[in-house]
Amino acid sequence: MTSTSLDELRQSLAGEVIGPEDAAYDAARRCYNALVDRRPAVIARCAGANDVAAAFEFARAEELEVAVRGGGHNPAGHCVADGVLVIDLSLLRKVEADGAARIARSGGGATWLDFDTATQAFGLVTPGGVVGSTGVAGLTFGGGIGHLTAQYGLTCDSLVGAEVVTPDGTVVRASSDENEELLWGLRGGGGNFGVVTRLDFRLYPLERVVGGALTYSGEGIGEGLRRFRELVASAPRELSCQAVLSVDESVAPMLGVYPCYTGSNGDPEELRALRTAPGLVDDGIGARTFLEQQLLFDSPYGENRQYWKGHFVRELPDELLDDLVERLVVLGRAPGGILIESLHGAPKDADPASGALGFRQAAFNVSAMATWQDAVHDEVHIQWARDTAAAIEPWSVSGGYANYMQADEPLERVRAAFGDDAFERLRALKSKYDPGNVLRRNQNIPPA
Ligand SMILES: Cc1cc2nc3c(=O)[nH]c(=O)nc-3n(C[C@H](O)[C@H](O)[C@H](O)COP(=O)(O)OP(=O)(O)OC[C@H]3O[C@@H](n4cnc5c(N)ncnc54)[C@H](O)[C@@H]3O)c2cc1C
Repeated sequence: MTSTSLDELRQSLAGEVIGPEDAAYDAARRCYNALVDRRPAVIARCAGANDVAAAFEFARAEELEVAVRGGGHNPAGHCVADGVLVIDLSLLRKVEADGAARIARSGGGATWLDFDTATQAFGLVTPGGVVGSTGVAGLTFGGGIGHLTAQYGLTCDSLVGAEVVTPDGTVVRASSDENEELLWGLRGGGGNFGVVTRLDFRLYPLERVVGGALTYSGEGIGEGLRRFRELVASAPRELSCQAVLSVDESVAPMLGVYPCYTGSNGDPEELRALRTAPGLVDDGIGARTFLEQQLLFDSPYGENRQYWKGHFVRELPDELLDDLVERLVVLGRAPGGILIESLHGAPKDADPASGALGFRQAAFNVSAMATWQDAVHDEVHIQWARDTAAAIEPWSVSGGYANYMQADEPLERVRAAFGDDAFERLRALKSKYDPGNVLRRNQNIPPA
């Protein structure tokens, strides 16, 4: 690719073009996962669907592979690769909420902080992710689990429409009235079918929650985990809950439990057992705004190396819980964390045929999230995540969560996340919208 062709691309886009010589290049190629350090040939910051079509055309003419960037959070680093053209959507961050129709229209590059800020201005929400800098589109296309999952379901269950630019430059709309099969595929099938410049979501009224964090240490961790398990087994629809196992500065295990209650009781009965459990060292539960709840998990961008691996499981037996706690200390240093997301409540209500993903019947998503800073520790942390995932595997159902997968997952794990029938249906959809597999830098669904 010559500097003349780069200039031509600059002239054909309303947005920005960033090449390796530009001052903005290093910041623009950075992702959430510091393990990913790649040098694309060019980054096309698209200002709309026409720009996306022009970027696809340029990539074709220059024989460049394509990567697509939303919030840059995917731990596999699919949004950037050496020598590719990156279609970067970070100029498309506008979110418009229609309070009367209870619909939000989100740009393809919006983050959850953009989304929540716009919708909370009307006292409305959609169940999204728990970290503000995560991309709305990327998270939605893999499912979407967060603080409102029990109440309103997976994020993709609230996706009602999208504008998609396919690799041949065609703009396609997906909704229940138009290209319904494409909407089905976007609900779990990832960024396989096109670049999405707009997403429409259903909204629900909600401004305040009872939430925060409960922290347990020492012997109390096992009991805290069991009470968390019992709480979500009774499936209260007004209460989502996640748990995180990690270690403190002295590498002693710690448990954080993060409920989000949206019922009318200011002191929810359901939380009593958790709040009186032995080993509770900090009770941070209280009334807060939804935007405050959304700050609980905020984490630095691009600073830590990450390798994640996990399984959806049908149950959390004592044996597994005890094993997970023991695994926190095997490295003799902080390994990262183990995230346990409950899928009780509304995900089970949705019609399984409404979206491609195949994990809504699982009880929990359990993920080993290795986190470290120094490259000399790459091998031990990656191995820790793999070993921990192997310990979870005997209880696995429905494969792994595509949103947390690394790039080294075999095709069979991607297939298992959908089930054979849905996977074949996705492959047919892929053949229709991206027969050349231009969009292959993702949890890939090969064309049929
Ligand atoms: C700190 C952190 C917190 C997270 N929290 C949650 C959470 O609470 N719940 C949850 O379910 N997941 C969560 N995730 C996982 C996250 O949902 C996925 O990694 C998701 O892929 C990130 O999307 P992104 O746009 O930020 O990432 P990117 O890396 O930019 O994009 C990932 C892929 O998504 C596709 N994509 C993104 N935008 C578009 C678009 N507009 N059109 C077409 N394809 C697109 C592309 O294939 C792209 O390669 C989290 C991840 C991190 C690192």
